[in-house]
Amino acid sequence: MDSRIGVVGSNNVDLITYIERMPKPGETLEAPDFAMGFGGKGANQAVAAARLGAQVSMVTRIGDDLFGPQQMQNFRENGIDTTHVLVAAGKPSGVAPIMVRPDGENSILIVQGANAALSPADVDAAWDMLAGCRLILLQLEVPLETVYRVIELAVRDGVATILNPAPAAPGLDLARLDGLTFLAPNEPELAMLTGMPTGTEDETLAAAQTLISRGIGQVIVTLGGRGALLVTGQGSERIAPVKVKPVDTTGAGDAFLGSFAHFHAAGQPVAEALAQAARYAALSVTRRGTQTSYADAEAFKAFCD
Ligand code: ADP
Repeated sequence: MDSRIGVVGSNNVDLITYIERMPKPGETLEAPDFAMGFGGKGANQAVAAARLGAQVSMVTRIGDDLFGPQQMQNFRENGIDTTHVLVAAGKPSGVAPIMVRPDGENSILIVQGANAALSPADVDAAWDMLAGCRLILLQLEVPLETVYRVIELAVRDGVATILNPAPAAPGLDLARLDGLTFLAPNEPELAMLTGMPTGTEDETLAAAQTLISRGIGQVIVTLGGRGALLVTGQGSERIAPVKVKPVDTTGAGDAFLGSFAHFHAAGQPVAEALAQAARYAALSVTRRGTQTSYADAEAFKAFCD
């Protein structure tokens, strides 16, 4: 077994139109600017880990359209193994048309596209590789059955897993997460998973503890600018935030989990790897964009020194 990280998840193309105002139904408007970016929680977490020097293999489905090859090229440019990146025949790429108003307010649509075609059979086909990983990262932008299949095989074969239950999925069945090594929700996702309030840190801790009693190894609750909370069967530990002036917090959660996977797979104990991840995510919020805000190992070292 090496320190390889497997990511089974989504990839998207963000299509960002900067607008003065929303067009009315039937109206055509000129918009001042447009930008594209690579996204999707799976791809983001893979890129964060890879930029820090991790060996990363991605299991995902790209669209059968113009964006598919670009997505593939982005994985390769980031040094990510694409052996298990497959084309979803006849399906469009996952895309996120985003409209940004001058005051920064966003309207976002998510089209799952090829991500909806990532199946339990794709997991089975990639399992020889995944079984050799130090850690497997999962999120909820692909079908739930695909996520459950990874957990089932990982528990059987003793491979460590991290599930970021985002975006919050009302249909997620906690019973099928039994044996998961790490569950990493933010506060609203934790509230949805448990049906418990997360308005105060005591409430958040109590909610996370119920997940431990349901068979989850450790819970990592991300708290935005307030840092994170690690809850285990033995107790809890607060991960302090790193004070920065935020410029753009999109993708901070993915920076945090991708970098945590790297630091932990490379041998750091959990709490130490989380403290490093808080530094990495803090650096990302000082930079614009999602994947464009993820530092490489050299820039991260310079930030820490
Ligand atoms: P999500 O985007 O999934 O909701 P969070 O907003 O909780 O995730 O952010 C993930 C992590 O990124 C946090 O635990 C924290 O370490 C870091 N982070 C987020 N926002 C800030 C901020 N404003 N300043 C410093 N660190 C931040």
